Amino acid sequence: MSANVETVSAPSASDPDGEVVSEVKADGDLLSGWDILRVRAPNPGLLTLTGTNTWVVGRGPAWVVDPGPLIETHLERVCAAIDDRGGLGGVVLTHDHEDHCEAVPELLARYPAPLAGGRGEVDVQLREGVRVGPFDPVATPGHSIDHFALISHGACFTGDAVLGEGSVFIAPHPGAMSNYMLALTRLRRREDFNVLCPGHGPVVWDADGKLDEYVSHRLERERKLVDALEGGLRTEGELLDAVWPEVPKQMRPLASVTLAAHLDKLENEGVLPAGVQRPMLEGFDR
Ligand SMILES: [Zn+2]
Repeated sequence: MSANVETVSAPSASDPDGEVVSEVKADGDLLSGWDILRVRAPNPGLLTLTGTNTWVVGRGPAWVVDPGPLIETHLERVCAAIDDRGGLGGVVLTHDHEDHCEAVPELLARYPAPLAGGRGEVDVQLREGVRVGPFDPVATPGHSIDHFALISHGACFTGDAVLGEGSVFIAPHPGAMSNYMLALTRLRRREDFNVLCPGHGPVVWDADGKLDEYVSHRLERERKLVDALEGGLRTEGELLDAVWPEVPKQMRPLASVTLAAHLDKLENEGVLPAGVQRPMLEGFDR
């Protein structure tokens, strides 16, 4: 690798142009080494980062992971990629949140093909160990109950279980946090992929490093939470201040959601003290 290439692959956070160059290079490497094309939807936001990543995988036919939001320009780019690659073999969803699946009906109206997902009205119900097209699904509940990671072509499509940057929120449902941490650990132990293609953010070339980082991040939050509880803190506000001090105000409701999942885990393990205020999450999409 030339010095020049190394420079562009490691942009500083304050250099948005460098980041774009790096992303273009990453996309080129993915295409040449893995035959995977990323089409990023123009739906940037707090949760979607620079936009939802739609992945077009293989050819003759191609498969699509997470068609993304229903935005005509995005759909056209996905369709062009499908045409380019000899048609559509099928669509697979990492999970059914709208920013990942809204375009499904429109895409399948244009290219009739089976839809696979973890729940809802799908043609193929994803199950661990049962291949779908070129993908080996791995249950990764946590961000949502129906979440799967998909392994194919030496890459792992991680949806919102692992993002290209930052961390994800964990939706409280029975066993959410412990199952999520178990899923991360199980992914980490696999040896059939070396690159992560996340639902949002940049491609992750150091898959093992990122999975290690995610596991230790969750353990670190848990340790801080246990410390805060041992120190006598009991209200939601106190716990958020102690455990998520760096989270900006607009992201605090999502920190509450993850706090609830951490508290559930401690309760299930029988180590949650009495009198802890639990976040109210009525109507939250799990
Ligand atoms: Zn998402």
